[in-house]
Amino acid sequence: MGDIRNIVVLTGAGISAESGVPTFRGPDGLWEGHRVEDVATPEAYRRDPDLVLDFYDQRRAKLASVEPNPAHVALGRLDAEWKGKLLIVTQNVDDLHERGGAERLLHMHGELKSAWCLSCGERHPFDGKMAGYPACAVCGVSGHVRPDIVWFGEMPYRMEEIDVAIATCDLFVSVGTSGAVYPAAGFVQSARYAGAETLELNLDPSEGSIFFNESRMGRAGDLVPEWVDAVLGG
Ligand code: NAD
Ligand code: ZN
Repeated sequence: MGDIRNIVVLTGAGISAESGVPTFRGPDGLWEGHRVEDVATPEAYRRDPDLVLDFYDQRRAKLASVEPNPAHVALGRLDAEWKGKLLIVTQNVDDLHERGGAERLLHMHGELKSAWCLSCGERHPFDGKMAGYPACAVCGVSGHVRPDIVWFGEMPYRMEEIDVAIATCDLFVSVGTSGAVYPAAGFVQSARYAGAETLELNLDPSEGSIFFNESRMGRAGDLVPEWVDAVLGG
């Protein structure tokens, strides 16, 4: 690992699975019993805001009863000890990376514990229920606070920063993501184009598995600590 200085780690729902947060598409193709189109699109929010707000209220409330697992903790340690550049890009909307100690972290698909007011446009920390149409903490207007989540059809956050990090990284590691959701699914190819080594850590081969130099199959809670130990020890 001697010539590795800049690392980008992409994480997806699989890294939180062992914490008890279900992944996106279960065996039934549903997300916690719902079709993705019914809860994770702007159209769904317009059609049935109560259903969508309640869905995210439940996901947010669940965070109080789950804990970071060894994979989150290992990435927190990598962040604390890695002297080179590091960016952890997560597609997850939970807060388990920050609770596992990660700071060089970016939530490209938003966060459950953030609210976005469509009246004033501001985002603010949020830890209650949106289904009761609370007032915005910034402008005080009620009825326009939505989850600060990037839904299908919306633009992921901070893509310029991500692009720069990937274009200048030496190692790109993908953890627990199915490789089905773009643009994140395309990061491995950008990383290879930039000349980086690419490593996949996933329970089973993702849709983009063939694009990685190396794929290790197993549980994130085992594979990530092993990999972090090797990187920091080498
Ligand atoms: P996904 O559910 O499509 O894929 C999860 C991947 O993780 C699968 O390839 C699966 O094989 C793998 N996996 C499952 N258990 C694992 C484990 N213990 N160790 C390692 N790998 C494991 O998730 P995605 O690719 O992140 O795309 C889903 C979208 O859903 C994202 O945009 C995300 O915002 C959203 N989502 C987030 C959460 C969360 O925040 N925890 C949960 C569900 C969905
Ligand atoms: Zn507001």
